[in-house]
Formats: sequence, C-alpha cells, structure tokens
Amino acid sequence: MIFVVCGPSGCGKSTLIGRVLARHPDLRFSVSHTTRPRRKGERDGREYYFVSRAAFERMIVRGRFVEWAVVHGCHYGTSKAEVEAKGKRGDLVLDVDVQGARSIRARFKDAVSLFVLPPRYAELRKRLFARGLDDPGTIRARLANARREIRHYREFDYIVINDDLNAAVGEFEAVILGQRCRRRAREGAIRPILQSFRAGKGK
Ligand code: ADP
Ligand code: 5GP
Repeated sequence: MIFVVCGPSGCGKSTLIGRVLARHPDLRFSVSHTTRPRRKGERDGREYYFVSRAAFERMIVRGRFVEWAVVHGCHYGTSKAEVEAKGKRGDLVLDVDVQGARSIRARFKDAVSLFVLPPRYAELRKRLFARGLDDPGTIRARLANARREIRHYREFDYIVINDDLNAAVGEFEAVILGQRCRRRAREGAIRPILQSFRAGKGK
C-alpha cells in the first residue's frame, strides 16, 4: 500500500511521518532525490539523496523517476529504484508536493493520499520561522506557495489537521489502520480463516 503525504512546507509532515514510522516498523519511507542544499541535521540517504542538478537531470533523461517536480526552485523526485526496493518490504510512505501526489495517484491507482493542514496560517508562519532552517526569503516563498497549494485539498482522500501533534499522529494511524482493514486489503489474511470454516474441523 502507498500512503502519499502532502501539505504546505512547515505544516509538520516530516515530524508527523517520523513519529508514525517510529511506531510502525512495517512502514517504509520513500527517500526522494533532491537538488536542495542539505540542511543542518540532515543526512544523505535518510531525509533525501542530495544530488547535483546535473546528476538529477541525468536521472530524468534515463527515466529513473516515478515522478519529479520543481518545488521552491529546487528539483525533487521519487526514484523507481526506491519505490521498488522499499515497496517490496512493506507499505510505503511518500512525502511529496501537490504535483507529485497527482503523478503518484495516476500511476498507482490504489495509493491513499493525505493532506496535512496546520490549524491556521499564522501557525504555519510561526513554525517555519521557529524551525530556523530557511532564510526569510525562502520562508516568504514557501508561505506564498502554501497559499496556492492548500486550494488543492479536494484532490486528497484524507485531511489530517496537525494542531496537537499526538492527535495528528492518531489521525494518520487511523487512516493506515482503516485502509489495512478494508476487505480488499484483507483477502489474503482471511483466506485461512475461511478455509478453517469450510473444513469445519476443531472446536
Ligand atoms: P514539513 O516537513 O511539513 O516542512 P516539519 O515537520 O519540518 O514540517 O515541521 C515544521 C516545524 O514545526 C518544526 O520545527 C516542527 O518541530 C514543528 N511542528 C511540527 N508539528 C508541530 C505541532 N503539531 N505543533 C507545534 N510545532 C510543530
Ligand atoms: P523540503 O525542502 O521542505 O524538504 O520539501 C519541500 C517540498 O518538496 C515539500 O512539499 C515536499 O513534500 C516536496 N517533496 C519532497 N520530495 C519530493 C518528491 O520526491 N517529489 C515531489 N514532487 N515533491 C517532493
């Protein structure tokens, strides 16, 4: 199963995904490639694969991406290799922008999409400044982009409101659990149960 997480920069996607992944070792995070400079505390291969513009463009030409987009002036993309390798080992979580979410939905019809919202615009602004990782110009660009991005919330299956972090983690987990309990997702698991009924043996 693929869970696509989207939402304005600074709304708390990485924090939320980090918490949910820590509680669900069966979930895998799809690490994207980016040309964005590495931030303090980020590690190559953990948050992103940090690559040069030339290397990114070579990957585009070679058809190595499932999807890619230019976001806030930098290139970001989900590689086929990443989705194939991690997808084999469990359900996948992707953190992509609105364009990326659209491409993933078009390619993987069963993908489940979540849009994360902060409780209000002023809180988003506060979080971006408090994070202290982007310069004021970059923050302004991210806020302007946020106002455009949120207009697309209707394209998503679920809305997670990240006001209280624990509550938001609970909402994300509820979506995962709900999807896993869907009849279609459970056909494999219920087969032996149904079989035991057919056999009609035991107590
Ligand atoms: P994104 O990945 O969406 O850009 P981050 O996860 O980096 O956002 O979060 C942006 C900032 O907001 C970080 O400093 C993070 O610690 C903080 N944050 C995240 N969720 C909450 C929350 N529910 N309440 C307060 N601060 C939050
Ligand atoms: P940041 O620079 O804050 O880590 O991410 C900026 C934006 O890029 C976020 O909206 C994030 O969801 C998006 N993003 C990260 N990886 C990808 C990707 O592989 N594809 C696309 N389309 N967007 C991505």
